[in-house]
Amino acid sequence: MSYKKNLADWRLATQLVRGGTMRSQFGETSEAIFMTSGYVYDAAETAAERFAGTADGYTYSRLSNPTVAMFEERMSLIEGLPVAKATATGMAAVNAALMCQLGAGDKVVGAKALFGSCRYILDQILPRFGIVTELVTGSDNDAWTRAITPGTRTVFVETPANPTLDVVDLEHVCRAAHDVGATVIVDNVFATPLLQRPTDYGADIVVYSGTKHIDGQGRALGGVILCGEKFFEDHLNQYLRHTGPAMSPFNAWIMLKGLETLDLRVTRMCENAAKVADFLADSGRLARVLYPARKDHPQHELAMRQMKAGGSVITVDVPGGRDAAFRLLNALRTIDISNNLGDAKSLMTHPSSTTHRSLAEEARLELGIVEGTLRLSVGLEDPLDLIDDLDQAMARISA
Ligand SMILES: *Cc1c(COP(=O)(O)O)cnc(C)c1O
Repeated sequence: MSYKKNLADWRLATQLVRGGTMRSQFGETSEAIFMTSGYVYDAAETAAERFAGTADGYTYSRLSNPTVAMFEERMSLIEGLPVAKATATGMAAVNAALMCQLGAGDKVVGAKALFGSCRYILDQILPRFGIVTELVTGSDNDAWTRAITPGTRTVFVETPANPTLDVVDLEHVCRAAHDVGATVIVDNVFATPLLQRPTDYGADIVVYSGTKHIDGQGRALGGVILCGEKFFEDHLNQYLRHTGPAMSPFNAWIMLKGLETLDLRVTRMCENAAKVADFLADSGRLARVLYPARKDHPQHELAMRQMKAGGSVITVDVPGGRDAAFRLLNALRTIDISNNLGDAKSLMTHPSSTTHRSLAEEARLELGIVEGTLRLSVGLEDPLDLIDDLDQAMARISA
């Protein structure tokens, strides 16, 4: 295996296609899939040296694998963080990023508006281990400052948040966290590595669900944790080795192929989403249309300061509650009813009965997730077909 060329000064679009590629002796164009759990050694001494860490080389795919390593290297280059570790799912990445550094008595501060399972970890799992969690309104800078007190070990942020598209001021939160020696984890799924770079604002750890835009074609689950060398050595390395949330080599290959077209796909999705959001807002048939790149988004300026474009997700409130929202969903002919996002296919979901159903109703309402809320992930179809579909489906709202 050799890196033919792997230039850290390649520009982003080149890194997405070539970063981290290692070629075997066969000189394959496309990255090889090494579906192997273990590795053989030319001598007993080699095995001993690899286990002792005095020689490089693979020992077991729970720890590392060449196909997974290519994906990790490519992610590390595009995010600009020295360490990337791939995981089986996005939630495995979130869980490991938190658990590897936390112990009883530590405090975690997070935003109330989070992906449902991230919120479950903070609300339900961490407190069982004597970890105190405090959740704040993500858009309220003073609330972050008040909550991030000495004893806070880490701060967990998702921006824009799912499904409310609340935007968190990363620079403010990172400064408050670093003042008390806390780390900041950013779940950057909605923005993707192309639209927002959390380390520019001071974030220490970035996590992705590769299931979303990185695969982007609805094929495989995956996740990745990015961080600095020190955090990796002090916390993450041993936690991952011994708890084993490793990504399959096959899925790593899918993610590598996904990265090759990520720039094209995300750029087009953002263009499509902007057109669809304008159509929805101008229709006058919805109670609310949220899209960060529209001037009427409550945090439009902050969103556009942190992100290069508005992203691929639009959240709307349908007047008439759950019945009307379900009527709209059931009338869709092109867009699918599905809770995934970042896919080539446009997908729409009703958060309060799906992704956010484990939240208590008051907690949902506090976030602004009402019974009429629908989340639309805009894909790669012709936006006029999406607009036609939404136009005819919205006619059913008051049917
Ligand atoms: C989907 C998602 C996750 C979880 O990722 P999985 O790959 O489904 O485990 C975490 N955070 C956000 C913001 C997500 O959208």
